[in-house]
Amino acid sequence: MRCLVVILLAALPGAAMAQGSDWTNPREPFQIADDLYYVGTEGLAAFLFTSDQGHLLIDVPLQENVPQVLASIRALGFDPADIRIQLASHAHFDHVGGLADMQQVTGADLVMSAADAAFVRQGRNFGLNGGYPAADVARTVGHLETVRLGDIELTAHLTPGHTPGCTSWGGRVEIEGRPYDFVSICSLSVLGNYQLGGDDPTYAGQARDYCTSVAHLESLEPDIFLAAHGSWFGIDDKMARRSAGDARAFVERGMYRDYLERARASIEGRLEREGFAGGCAGLMGG
Ligand SMILES: [Zn+2]
Repeated sequence: MRCLVVILLAALPGAAMAQGSDWTNPREPFQIADDLYYVGTEGLAAFLFTSDQGHLLIDVPLQENVPQVLASIRALGFDPADIRIQLASHAHFDHVGGLADMQQVTGADLVMSAADAAFVRQGRNFGLNGGYPAADVARTVGHLETVRLGDIELTAHLTPGHTPGCTSWGGRVEIEGRPYDFVSICSLSVLGNYQLGGDDPTYAGQARDYCTSVAHLESLEPDIFLAAHGSWFGIDDKMARRSAGDARAFVERGMYRDYLERARASIEGRLEREGFAGGCAGLMGG
């Protein structure tokens, strides 16, 4: 529940200050799978994928988190200058606020959806006040397009709704020689200030996008659930078990299903309150 409260608070002016430490407290970096590491803060995720051709980084949260993320990467024994590609989940300051500062260090190409690139290139949040340093986007990707670097291959799953180009990233990693599929969910949260229907929706087609996105994510069966907020995938417990020697602490399918169940219920509830007859089924012609 905490994550939902955080997200709802984020819709309010000054929320970043008010709900504080979860977003800015450091978290010791740790390994999730053979070439996959967590380098985010206590509550805001950043994921590092490593290869002998260079590294790839998903998200850099708040601008003020950048020194922490850099320190985490170095503490794991990697050089931030070897990061060739940066990916982004969505155009909200708590996930892309540090992209531009990080690019100054890495010189990496930023790759993300076209819809959210339009906001990131201007340092704008979708649907929220305030902003963050604008970043250069080198390449945009569409639904199910892949991004490759060395033996890293990630697939962009466009899951719009929370933002028009909200992108969940999926791929395969290995742990002790065995392959595991992962998905890092962008977000399906419906912010308090969003207007899904009526004459002036937050964006046209947003309600249908939420429904399509939750259905798409429901069709996937990842072994490892990751997300833009650590609390969604039970980071504290899994990290503790990983540190205690359980190499497969993040291999767990239940929390992904639980997250999607809660997200669907929240989306359907919101559609009902906003007067969409038949909810997602009605919208999608089902
Ligand atoms: Zn967001």
